[in-house]
Amino acid sequence: MATPKACVQCGKCLDVCPLFKVTGREELTPRAKFFLDGLDSPDGLSEKDFKSLAGLCLGCGRCEENCPQNMSGPKLVSALRSKSKDFKQTCWDLWLSHPGFIWPLAAALSKFSPESLPEPIGSSKKRMKSLFAKSPDSWAKLTPDLKFEDRKALLFKGCVGNYAREDWAIKAERFMDGLGLVRAPECDFACCGSSYGSAGLLDRQAKAHKFNVDTWKAVDCPLLIIFCTTCLKGLKEYSLDDFGGDEDLFDKWQSSLMPLSSLLVDGDITILENRPNQVIYHKPCHAPVPDYDLQLIEKITEDRLLPVQKDLCCGFGGVMQLGAPDLSKQVGESCAETLTKNAHAGAQILTGCSACVIQLATHTKNDFFTGHWLDILE
Ligand code: SF4
Ligand code: SF4
Repeated sequence: MATPKACVQCGKCLDVCPLFKVTGREELTPRAKFFLDGLDSPDGLSEKDFKSLAGLCLGCGRCEENCPQNMSGPKLVSALRSKSKDFKQTCWDLWLSHPGFIWPLAAALSKFSPESLPEPIGSSKKRMKSLFAKSPDSWAKLTPDLKFEDRKALLFKGCVGNYAREDWAIKAERFMDGLGLVRAPECDFACCGSSYGSAGLLDRQAKAHKFNVDTWKAVDCPLLIIFCTTCLKGLKEYSLDDFGGDEDLFDKWQSSLMPLSSLLVDGDITILENRPNQVIYHKPCHAPVPDYDLQLIEKITEDRLLPVQKDLCCGFGGVMQLGAPDLSKQVGESCAETLTKNAHAGAQILTGCSACVIQLATHTKNDFFTGHWLDILE
């Protein structure tokens, strides 16, 4: 990865920052963050105000991709958040560290919350419903190509696949069986660490990395099959240090990470009669290149896929949901509205990121179903 230089205030990041695009507020841009960070004492701002302003970031990484100086908004924000932890990070830490207990409890409590309350409580009922949603009837039958023989593999289910959408994980494991993969001994992975990192919980992130690497080594370094785009990005970001400097092991880890869609894309597809007339693909900010999720969806939707809009962020934003829920909602609603602008009621929005599914299902009108592509496969 290229070394960052210094922000030259060129403004190229403004073209892609979803916070700026939706609000028009210059103070939320990556350029403003780097400008303020470069000042010895930010004029007229207390350090606390500066950190909370600069901390308003969705972690989408779009500024990083568009910056000629290789400046990274998410890295700056993660470092700032790690230096000024507060109750938001404590709550986010609890949310990520005890999903088996806290998520069902939050879902049960949210049933009593009126939707008219302010964010984040106002939309909590819909958000929890989205987290624990059920798949609609499937409309494409996929028979994977037998690609492997005696190759050991494990599914990395991610927090959502582990604690809320076990049905996704069950389907994914069946597809793995169909590919001829042999399941390595069952073991539990921790969170990929990405969400801890963007929240500035760097100790937690390092512990998650260590736990996952140790777990993978303990079962003889199998292939890791992944169906969530953000988990894939989080796992790809592990560094050589996470492997104690062992380059061979690090390379083995990197080559063991496989998006499930990349293995299914040349499978045999039968379309069922209930396929919707229109399908919309939401491209997650963290989608890899090439985007196998899109390739798979193109294959099963054929001419029913609406033109893909590649520059939309769902606004999930991790810990920012707690710090600035209104901003997250504003970006989410704008994304949902743009995605469905030319769609008729009954269209389905499909994506490959668990967080995008939850955020878009929360902010899309009830006329549209939003789900993971696993939802509609048989
Ligand atoms: S962060 Fe990069 S793209 Fe944005 S203003 Fe600075 S140099 Fe330009
Ligand atoms: S990561 Fe995304 S939201 Fe954050 S500053 Fe960069 S472009 Fe804006």
